[in-house]
Amino acid sequence: MDKMNDAKPWTCETTRANMQDYLDETLLGPVATRLFLHVRDCDACCKELDEQKAMFGMLNAMPAIEPPADFDEKILASVPYAAYREMAELRAPRMPVILEEESLPDFVRSGATRAAGLVLAAATAAALAMSRVPDIAVAAVGLGLLPEALVRVQQLSRRIYVGAVQRNDHA
Ligand SMILES: [Zn+2]
Repeated sequence: MDKMNDAKPWTCETTRANMQDYLDETLLGPVATRLFLHVRDCDACCKELDEQKAMFGMLNAMPAIEPPADFDEKILASVPYAAYREMAELRAPRMPVILEEESLPDFVRSGATRAAGLVLAAATAAALAMSRVPDIAVAAVGLGLLPEALVRVQQLSRRIYVGAVQRNDHA
């Protein structure tokens, strides 16, 4: 199958280079076989393979660990100020909770609410333009525009905030 590989002499070096893939079982069959045959006859590579097997076995046996909640804070506290400034790009998207998109309730952010609000506002405004209607209609226009306005004001504040943070960091 793999004629090129068959043609090359299989050395200790080839064995070492492929050992990791062999242990991961990602080597092509014929290559794995050549590695296996070499290891069977070569004491040095056999020892190396045993050691790697033991090491990976140990790593695999280790429990997955979740970082503690204050992990970020502790890391940041240990970072010198100059390095902290250089991470401005990474920090830029972090902003006060009130400016996070999620701080607006889902129903306000939903496209349907915003669209319905705009339709309501437009329809009421059209009715206003055509005839004299009670003042309450003016309030309805405002109410209809509210969801869209909330989302837009928040977007704008977010942009201003991020801009200010970046200017600060580059000052
Ligand atoms: Zn060898």
